[in-house]
Amino acid sequence: MINLSSITRPTLLLDERICRANIAFMSKRAAEAGVHFRPHMKTAQSRLVAGWFRDAGVRSITVSSVGMARYFADDGWDDITIAFPVNPREIDALNTFPGTVRLHFLLESPETAGMLGAALRREADVWIKLDSGYGRTGIPHDDDVALDALISSLRQITQLRLRGLLTHAGMTYTASNADEVRVLFEQSRARLVGAAQRHGNLLCSAGDTPGCTLAKSFEGLHEIRPGNMTFYDLMQAKRGVCGIHDIAVAAACPVVAVHEKRGEVVLYGGAVHLSKESIPGDEGFPLYGLLCELTPEGWSDPIEGGWLCGMSQEHGIARLPAPILRRLKPGDLLAVLPVHSCLTADAFGGYLNLDGERVDHYAAHIHFPHAI
Ligand code: PLP
Repeated sequence: MINLSSITRPTLLLDERICRANIAFMSKRAAEAGVHFRPHMKTAQSRLVAGWFRDAGVRSITVSSVGMARYFADDGWDDITIAFPVNPREIDALNTFPGTVRLHFLLESPETAGMLGAALRREADVWIKLDSGYGRTGIPHDDDVALDALISSLRQITQLRLRGLLTHAGMTYTASNADEVRVLFEQSRARLVGAAQRHGNLLCSAGDTPGCTLAKSFEGLHEIRPGNMTFYDLMQAKRGVCGIHDIAVAAACPVVAVHEKRGEVVLYGGAVHLSKESIPGDEGFPLYGLLCELTPEGWSDPIEGGWLCGMSQEHGIARLPAPILRRLKPGDLLAVLPVHSCLTADAFGGYLNLDGERVDHYAAHIHFPHAI
């Protein structure tokens, strides 16, 4: 039970039961498809939550920075993919990891491979980043010349072991429904597996939450790396990837002003807490979160007709139906279901579980002001 009177400022609540159910769901999907599950820790960024993955049989993880790799390595994780292009300025930091930790890097250029060859004083596994249509990083999936060139240069570097091709089908986030997600993921999967087969049957690593949750086939894939599925959020619910009851985090925000004539309340909870990410609401206006009632046991279903319609640095503007508005007063609390849980969790840098206990987050470890 949460002691609601102990919540004095915006606080991110984490429902362990929902989170463990999400982890169990994805672990089962991976096991049934015979693919390795290497969840991305960029969503929860928490040693406690990583432990819930461990309880579900996970032994290897993905992270998005060298610092995050260190945070988990120091907690006993010894098989870690840093799923971000190697930053040549951090090679010295990579050299400080214990030899017992198996590190996997992402590469897309012979130049960076050469710099690693010159400065890396440990062995590491390498995945070539493939652009399967997202257009962010990676060698275009059909650029066999560039792939050959990188593979040949990797063969000259004794510290590096080439494992395979890795892609992130981030374009599934442009889909407007589950069927579109499936089509985009399938296109990415086929491009990844096709490129791997043309280059000596390399292993294939894929992983975005929409695709991994909904795909009909993981054929040809060695591993999947979804992360957002740890918490899910409104962005996923909007696309039919999850239901509202699968969302494992909600921000408890104090009401600081009630504007009955406007039909709005002002929350202490703005862009620095929730992020400024939005989805189109029913009337086409940006929606920054859905509003729920808070009880000592957790949060309710979303309040019908209630939504976060505006956002500035610390303020959230919440629109609510008149009967609810009339009984709210400054000092009350509302819960906000986030649009993008990864950014919200990163902004808070810490959680409170539904027993009122603190849950760690890597961001608090490095700097964070909103950490509880
Ligand atoms: N792998 C890489 C390289 C990513 O960049 C991301 C997310 O950005 C993921 C995996 C996890 O995807 P999702 O956030 O959809 O779970």
